[in-house]
Amino acid sequence: MVEYAIGMDLGGTNLRAAAIDKTGILLDKISGSTKFEEGRDAVVSDIVAAISRLRETHGAQGLRGIGVGVPGFIRMKEGLITNSNNLPYLENVPIRDVLTNKLGTRVILENDANAAALGEQWMGAGRGVEDLVLLTLGTGIGGGIVSGGRIIRGSVGMAGEIGHISVVPNGNPCGCGNQGCLEKHASATAVAAMADLMQLGENLTSKDVYDLAKQDSEAGEKARQIWQVVGESLGMAMASLINTFNFPLYLLSGGMLPAWEFFAPHMMRVAKQRSFTFRATSGETRIAQATLGNLAGLYGASYLPWLEG
Ligand SMILES: [Zn+2]
Repeated sequence: MVEYAIGMDLGGTNLRAAAIDKTGILLDKISGSTKFEEGRDAVVSDIVAAISRLRETHGAQGLRGIGVGVPGFIRMKEGLITNSNNLPYLENVPIRDVLTNKLGTRVILENDANAAALGEQWMGAGRGVEDLVLLTLGTGIGGGIVSGGRIIRGSVGMAGEIGHISVVPNGNPCGCGNQGCLEKHASATAVAAMADLMQLGENLTSKDVYDLAKQDSEAGEKARQIWQVVGESLGMAMASLINTFNFPLYLLSGGMLPAWEFFAPHMMRVAKQRSFTFRATSGETRIAQATLGNLAGLYGASYLPWLEG
């Protein structure tokens, strides 16, 4: 009998789930869309169906537990999402207990970026490192902090919301109520908004702005300025993180990584300039790219049942 756990990554429009064994071998992976316009019950049914399918294939006996990563602010004790831009229909629903009851197996709820940080620590760029921070650069910016091999959740479960650290005093307003949040100046959404404001084109993606930055033209120069803002904003956040934690590793993941060559030099420069700890530990502190891509959340979520015992 193979012992395994199921990890799920629940997004705004799709869900993915994987069966992964204790050594990190991915046994199976499925993905599908969530019918969120049909409401909460339809989404819960989709989740239960996906997990049940994996459990039937790999056997209920070997199933150690289920971890579910969701975007948003989590209350761990109650097992619910209190605030999520992507999953408003699941807000304040005791989703952990609903799933546990329907599946008859223990379910652990976790923030998706926290799960991704744990996944990278277990099987990705952070293997062998006990302490790290991960930033996921997407439509927003998620953060996860792992220390001593465990996720730092804080007292309620809302720790690691690094995307909402202020990097610009009175900067762009954010849905969280703050102004100048990191994710308003360094996410893919922020890149697209800047491109629009600089009249580089409408509805450009961060990939388009990356391609533009490679051009030796006026538009290329503007695109490189956008990546400079992204890099400097990330550098400020990194300096604060390094000053706070003195961890050896800070990882970045997400769809903007291809533009690393344009934003990372600015990020490194600002992080060095603003963090004594970074300068003093230059050989022992790394800011690097994550390696698991969008599998990180699945690895982390499936590791939770083993870690939580
Ligand atoms: Zn915010």
